[in-house]
Formats: sequence, structure tokens, C-alpha cells
Amino acid sequence: MSALSLSLQGFVVDEHAAMQARWEEASRETIKKTTKPCPNCNIPVEKNGGCMHMKCPRPQCRFEWCWNCGLEWNRTCMGDHWFE
Ligand SMILES: [Zn+2]
Ligand SMILES: [Zn+2]
Repeated sequence: MSALSLSLQGFVVDEHAAMQARWEEASRETIKKTTKPCPNCNIPVEKNGGCMHMKCPRPQCRFEWCWNCGLEWNRTCMGDHWFE
């Protein structure tokens, strides 16, 4: 194998890794915007559209909280900012 083809291969691999990194960065950004850790058990929970009412999907937890306040779901949240 010549030095040229080796460096060419290296380039292709680097390019692929760079693309992968960009894609991972983009998906991390999306996850950051649409998920928050459950205040009770800390697992990331996905936001459901414009609704501020969050519910932990873990059967052992099922904690309900407010995306806006980061606190347990309450009447103020329900009346004031249930939806964005
Ligand atoms: Zn939880
Ligand atoms: Zn709230």
C-alpha cells in the first residue's frame, strides 16, 4: 500500500468521524431542548409538545412535575402555564 492511499484512507475515516460528531452534537442539542431530568429520580424525560405537565415514565417513580418550574405539578402551573 502506498503512502498516498494510506493518507487518503485516513482522510475518509476522519471525515466520517467528523460527520458522526456533528450529528451527535445536533442530536444532543435536540435532546437538551426536549428532555429534562425527572426531579425525583433524574432520568431524562421527553417533553410532550407544548404541554408543561411532565410525568416520569418510570413505573417506580411516576412523579408529575412542571417543565417550566422544575417543581411538582401544582394548581398554579395548571392555571398559569399548562400550555406554552
Ligand atoms: Zn422519575
Ligand atoms: Zn409551573
